[in-house]
Amino acid sequence: TWVNFSAYFHKVIDRFELTKSDNIKFIRKIPREAIFVEVDEDKITQVLDNIISNALKYSPQGGTITFRVRELADEIIVSVSDEGVGIPKADLAKVFERFYRVDKARSRKLGGTGLGLAIAKEVVLAHGGTIWAESKEHKGTTIYFTLPLEREQKDDWYDV
Ligand code: ATP
Ligand code: MG
Repeated sequence: TWVNFSAYFHKVIDRFELTKSDNIKFIRKIPREAIFVEVDEDKITQVLDNIISNALKYSPQGGTITFRVRELADEIIVSVSDEGVGIPKADLAKVFERFYRVDKARSRKLGGTGLGLAIAKEVVLAHGGTIWAESKEHKGTTIYFTLPLEREQKDDWYDV
């Protein structure tokens, strides 16, 4: 189905805003205009729920989480940045593997199974997008994913 990603993303963030603790701040950098993407809304919601839960789980007191959407020519880039513990460089790609968790002791304390990002990757790839992480230890983490924009094929018109 076609989804206006700007409005939809706000709706997802609103749901987390209601239950988050007061000492975590949310910042939204989302275009005002509608951006239509063709997605399975339930599946993308699962992706965002996991990425945002992770950001909250690993955020320090007083931390800020920033939500961004950038519109490029043929895709949108969605990102969620936190100011948490970060992920060591060597683990950046591995966190998308099933059951992979950076610090076993810490992860066990925080709960979860280590499947969230593996599922997120599967869903994003199935939508024709890509997903990756950038991080600085003790500074924070940003998870990015893209979704393709299906623009009309101009060529078909001009050649007629
Ligand atoms: P689940 O999502 O199944 O509840 P999980 O959150 O541990 O469990 P993933 O979401 O797949 O599993 O994340 C894998 C690992 O990547 C985490 O255990 C954690 O070590 C690391 N990680 C993910 N997101 C962040 C983040 N925002 N900051 C720091 N580490 C992170
Ligand atoms: Mg998770």
